[in-house]
Amino acid sequence: MRRALVLLGVVWLAACGPAEVEYKETRYVFGTLVEFIIRGVDEGKAKRAVAAVDRDFQRMHKDWHAWKPGGELVALNETLAKGESRTVSDFVLPLLEQGQAFEAKSGGLFNPAIGAVVNAWGFHADELPKGALPDFDEIRALAAKQPSMADVKIEGNRVSSTNTAVRFDFGGFAKGVALDMAASKLKALGIEHAIVNAGGDLNTIGDAGKRLWTVGIRDPRDWGVIASVELMGGENLYTSGNYERFREADGIRYAHIIDPRTGMAVDHTVSASVIHENGALADAAATALIVAGPDDWADVARAMDITYAMLVDKQGTVYATPEMLARVKFETSKELTIVESGG
Ligand code: AMP
Ligand code: MG
Repeated sequence: MRRALVLLGVVWLAACGPAEVEYKETRYVFGTLVEFIIRGVDEGKAKRAVAAVDRDFQRMHKDWHAWKPGGELVALNETLAKGESRTVSDFVLPLLEQGQAFEAKSGGLFNPAIGAVVNAWGFHADELPKGALPDFDEIRALAAKQPSMADVKIEGNRVSSTNTAVRFDFGGFAKGVALDMAASKLKALGIEHAIVNAGGDLNTIGDAGKRLWTVGIRDPRDWGVIASVELMGGENLYTSGNYERFREADGIRYAHIIDPRTGMAVDHTVSASVIHENGALADAAATALIVAGPDDWADVARAMDITYAMLVDKQGTVYATPEMLARVKFETSKELTIVESGG
């Protein structure tokens, strides 16, 4: 929560000029504060737009949830586990289609079909489990069934899977899909300048008042930001943090981002940040780059058509594409080892 407030503060300071009228509202959804800053329209219109987007967010939270009963995705997972097919709503379909495309682009490192593995680690819970670790052989056996979006057949709205081990978990990019939809809705409602910021993952529209939006990139090593960057309207920033959710045993941390090839928790990389006009792609890519790690991230970024990417490994070394390095301003107070690669 404190981290979110620091980040929101960065955006706010940068966006607030003396003569500007800005509407600012914060909602709570997806387990985080979502801040809206809307410029250029009267307060009533801005308020109605935020309320409309928030209604969509609440539905997404329910129907896209990987494990809380009552939503569409949970029902779909139960159906596919039985080897049966199910008709899904237009609300869930884009996640399946984009999930399929992004998994293919990432060479399988972003894989939203590994919900059973994520669940076996205990990450399908509000409170993370303490105590004994799950049986690693069982987890490896689940991964060995190779659940993949490539197993999923989509015919119109009818969905089936040739692999009963497929369990959807869209946690790796649902925020991106949600914020893309939010930006589209705001534009459709006549908003030309806005930022929607979900704890540092954000989409932008237009500008911050004769200047670009200046936003913070979360620092995985301590509170606050590691760098700031200016975004043109339509550019979106996503940071995936392997420090955000984890369980601990015998002094070892097992984090929530999983290598789909082994089922094991990734430990070499703590965060990845991506800027792209497609928020869903940026979100999926940030997760994939964490799995790829220092050796492979640049190749995976290229395969996913990502130009602006940055990675922090567990030693705290920062890796970035030359294009990203040209844009970011690192916090001068922080000692950093920075390696330029990829691009
Ligand atoms: P993010 O914070 O965007 O990196 O998303 C992390 C979440 O994505 C995890 O909590 C899991 O629900 C899910 N996840 C974990 N590993 C993967 C993976 N390799 N591909 C896709 N989703 C994943
Ligand atoms: Mg992600």
